[in-house]
Amino acid sequence: MVRVNESDCMMRYFSHFINGETVKPQNNDWIDSVNPATGKIWARFARGNAVDVELAVNAAYNAYQKPEWRADSTTRINVLHAIADRIDQNFEQLVEVEVNDNGKRIREVNGQMSTLGGWYRHFANDLEKLAPDKLMLDIKDITARLELMPYGVIAAITAWNSPLMIAAWKLAPALAAGNAVIIKPSEMASASTVVFAELIAPVTPAGLVNVLTGFGNEVGAALVAAEKVRKVTFTGSEIGGAKVAGVAAQHVKPTTLELGGKSPQLVFADADLESTVNGVMSGIFLSNGQTCVAGSRLIIHQSIKNEFINKLLDRIAKLKFGDPMDYHTDVGPIANKPQFEKVLAMIATALDEGATIVTGGYAQTVDGFDNGYFVAPTILENVSVDATIWQEEVFGPVLCVSSFDTAKEAVSLANDSAFGLAAGVWSGDIAFANNIASQIDAGTVYVNHYRSVSACAPVGGVKKSGYGRELGPNAIKDFMQEKAVWLGTASTPNPFEPLM
Ligand code: NAD
Repeated sequence: MVRVNESDCMMRYFSHFINGETVKPQNNDWIDSVNPATGKIWARFARGNAVDVELAVNAAYNAYQKPEWRADSTTRINVLHAIADRIDQNFEQLVEVEVNDNGKRIREVNGQMSTLGGWYRHFANDLEKLAPDKLMLDIKDITARLELMPYGVIAAITAWNSPLMIAAWKLAPALAAGNAVIIKPSEMASASTVVFAELIAPVTPAGLVNVLTGFGNEVGAALVAAEKVRKVTFTGSEIGGAKVAGVAAQHVKPTTLELGGKSPQLVFADADLESTVNGVMSGIFLSNGQTCVAGSRLIIHQSIKNEFINKLLDRIAKLKFGDPMDYHTDVGPIANKPQFEKVLAMIATALDEGATIVTGGYAQTVDGFDNGYFVAPTILENVSVDATIWQEEVFGPVLCVSSFDTAKEAVSLANDSAFGLAAGVWSGDIAFANNIASQIDAGTVYVNHYRSVSACAPVGGVKKSGYGRELGPNAIKDFMQEKAVWLGTASTPNPFEPLM
């Protein structure tokens, strides 16, 4: 914890954003944020508490109550388009902050930010088409209509790996639905969300988009428990999600949980090896495996295993480690120190449990970045299905390899997981691959490619990967509740025996 005074002017400070304004934490507590490439503190985030939560919740509630917001979809459509325009106009500022904050490579962040406005435009367009379903009653002389109403105040809790994209998947449909939102970004990477809120302030009515930064068990927990918060949408770890859902349940409010994964890549003997290598490489090593859908378990037909691994090794040998701000860098740092230590500790446990290293397995030294959190892309073989590394999410650049003889064995290996977020199926026989895809327990299955996302397709998991979905055709309705309005007339018969 850091208490600061005004003279501490070299550091960049990222405060809460409440009711259209930058707001310092009530007790002037701040959290240091470390640039993972340099290992140096580059910024401080407000350490929020229950008092900050109350301010934000009241602001959001008042903003949501305004009829020109709740009841006027045209206003909401215009605001969503204006947010998208502000993102596009201030693109570079968001990229710079994000790369400093979580160490994701500039090439990748550029790609993400260039699509960010599109999520808001998509849900503006979807809102234009949104019509409530008709109610067909089975009772004579009465009609009824279905109304959709926003929840009110939504808590959107996000993870550190892709803060603004995760926020967009929640914020865009939630605003389209007529809610007000409080975003609680990760304490590991809050800067871009604060900058985003400040950038869109000129085009967003005050109080509709608020940001509270700080620790999950402090500001996050208080936010989930706040009475006026009526729905929680959470992206993060299984442990965090379980805690959030527990508190939300005590306060009788629904949650959507987008949690982790241990996604399998099933490679059959007739797969196109070059495109499969591309998919498997980017599936696990892009972003250092710090994506929820990281394809961390390679399940490959034994006849092509060695050839395939050699192709992966050729690719890995060519990767350039370095500054995430450099466009030529292929591998940047792990996003933060706890995660860096966790990845190395999980590799050590894997070795203790019998795995062998094909490549990697160590902290990578990088010239000019002696204190950076770099890890060599790692491939492990001889991993037992009971091993921790086979069962638990690493959220790092670690690929476990297992081989099979029959398709049945491949499916059984793939489904032998507490998680079920995504999977890849690679085969030259499309009918066969489709059949395999249908047998996989996961929220998303990719056939012969990996990791695409579209606002039109729902994302989410089964089993411990969570419940509820984001994006897709129902995304706006998921932030609304149904109301049945019954219409009778003076001659409508009373359904019950009249009491005298
Ligand atoms: P985390 O669970 O530690 O934290 C996520 C967020 O929850 C943070 O903002 C944190 O402050 C907050 N939080 C933690 N405890 C809380 C509590 N008790 N009450 C309220 N808020 C609390 O997860 P992380 O390390 O930030 O993110 C990595 C995880 O996120 C991985 O498991 C990854 O797979 C998952 N993830 C999932 C998706 C998806 O769409 N399924 C996308 C990205 C990341």
